[in-house]
Amino acid sequence: MITSTVENYVKQIYLQQQENPADLLPMGKLATAMNVVPGTATAMVKALADSGLVDYEPRGGIRLTHGGEQLALHVLRRHRILESFLVEILGLDWSEVHEEAETLEHAVSDKVLERMDHLMNRPQYDPHGDPIPTAKGQISHIRLMPLSDMAPGTSAQVARVADQDAAFLRFAEKNGLLPGVKFSLISSDSQADAVTIRLRNKQTITLGGKAAEKILVRKKTG
Ligand SMILES: [Zn+2]
Repeated sequence: MITSTVENYVKQIYLQQQENPADLLPMGKLATAMNVVPGTATAMVKALADSGLVDYEPRGGIRLTHGGEQLALHVLRRHRILESFLVEILGLDWSEVHEEAETLEHAVSDKVLERMDHLMNRPQYDPHGDPIPTAKGQISHIRLMPLSDMAPGTSAQVARVADQDAAFLRFAEKNGLLPGVKFSLISSDSQADAVTIRLRNKQTITLGGKAAEKILVRKKTG
């Protein structure tokens, strides 16, 4: 049976795998991400392997099977449509919708989800800029770069804010660093670990290195 625990594991394995797609996911890393002790994660992964959702090599690590990946993409689809719905239709703040979606993603029916998706004209990205998988389990893989890797004098567009932490999201919103916003990098000071950017409205913002790593951008191509 697919419980919410199974869905959460499969989703987390998928997200962790995206960071190093070529490698098996180490059990320790999964346990940390799930906030459980390694023994708990191992027992769960064995059950997932028995259900055909993951391949598990005791010394190497974990990888989702095709079936596991499809399940993960369905959970992500529910999560990201719910986040979009909560922000766009219900008017919740984007810093608070992740937690709500974590609960609702296990409860929403396909029928309700389909109506939400339809009502919003089938958005491709959620409010944080993450791509929404299609109902057929397809997802766009656009290579993004962290703002911290940009060279001074170059321009880009905010594509994703890669942190679901409410305080960080409020910081990003307060400074206008929302997906779609265009800016130029004015200076990058490695000694001070800070970058300064200028938005289109001429406002300048200085970000610390940590914050700049969490803002993912798409390079401007004209
Ligand atoms: Zn979320």
